[in-house]
Amino acid sequence: MTIMKVRDLSKSFGGIEAVRKVSFELKKGEFLALIGPNGAGKSTCFNMINGYLKPDSGSVELAQPNGKWCNLVGRKPRAIWRYGVGRTFQITATFASMTVRENVQMALISHYRSSLNIWVRATRQYNAEADQLLEMVSMQDLADRACSELAYGDLKRLELAIALAHAPRLLLMDEPTAGMAPSERDALMSLVADIVHEEDLSVMFTEHDMDVVFEHADRILVLNRGELIAQGDEEEIRTNKLVQEVYLGG
Ligand code: ADP
Ligand code: MG
Repeated sequence: MTIMKVRDLSKSFGGIEAVRKVSFELKKGEFLALIGPNGAGKSTCFNMINGYLKPDSGSVELAQPNGKWCNLVGRKPRAIWRYGVGRTFQITATFASMTVRENVQMALISHYRSSLNIWVRATRQYNAEADQLLEMVSMQDLADRACSELAYGDLKRLELAIALAHAPRLLLMDEPTAGMAPSERDALMSLVADIVHEEDLSVMFTEHDMDVVFEHADRILVLNRGELIAQGDEEEIRTNKLVQEVYLGG
C-alpha cells in the first residue's frame, strides 16, 4: 500500500537546481533510505515534503487514513505535521535539564493539545504512554535521568521517542546518526528498522554510512546533483553502473 507519491518535485536556489524532477513512491511500513553525496539535494527534498521549503513545481500526495489523497505542496509545516508527517528534532538546551520521561510527556501533551484532547487526558495516562514510548526505544531504565546526563546515542533515542509521541504515519529523519560512532549508528538504525516493521510506520532517512544503509533499508533512492539516478534494493543499487560511477567510486 502506497502512503506517499512524490511527482516531479523541483527546487532551484538562484541558478542552482538543488532538486530536479524527483519522483518516487513510499509504501506503508517501508524503511526507505535517501542517499547521495553532499549537496545532492537530500535535505531540500525533506524540507519540501514537510513544508519548510516551497517547491518550484511538482506534487507530494499523502494518503490519508480515510483513503483520500491530499497534496501537501503549499501547506504550512504545522498543517503537514497534523496530516501525520513527523520529523526528528534535536533536543535543545531548554529541555536538557528535564528528565527523559518529562521530555516525552511534554511531547505527548503538545501532541494531544493540538488535537484538542488535552482536557480529557489524566496525567497518569501521559505517564503510562510516556513509559510505553520509552520502552519502544529501550530507555525505561533512563526515564528519571536528566537529559543533560545522557550519552549522545541515548539522546538520539530520546529524540526518536519524542518524534513518535506525535504518532506520525510518516517520519522523516535527516542524518539521524550524524556524529555517532559506527557501532552506535548501527544500533540506532536497527532500532528504528524494528519499530518501522512492528508499527507499520513509514520512515524515510538519510545516512552516509553505506554499510548501515545496506544492512537496514528496505529500499534505497540515490540522488546526485538534484536528480534521482537510481532506486531499488541493495542488490540493484550495488550493481547499478551509474551509482558506481558517481557515488560509490567503483
Ligand atoms: P544534501 O542534503 O544532499 O547535502 P542539500 O539539499 O542541503 O543537499 O543542498 C542541495 C544544493 O542546494 C546544494 O548545492 C546547496 O548548496 C543548495 N542549497 C540548499 N539549501 C539552500 C539555501 N537555503 N539557499 C541556497 N542554496 C541552498
Ligand atoms: Mg543534508
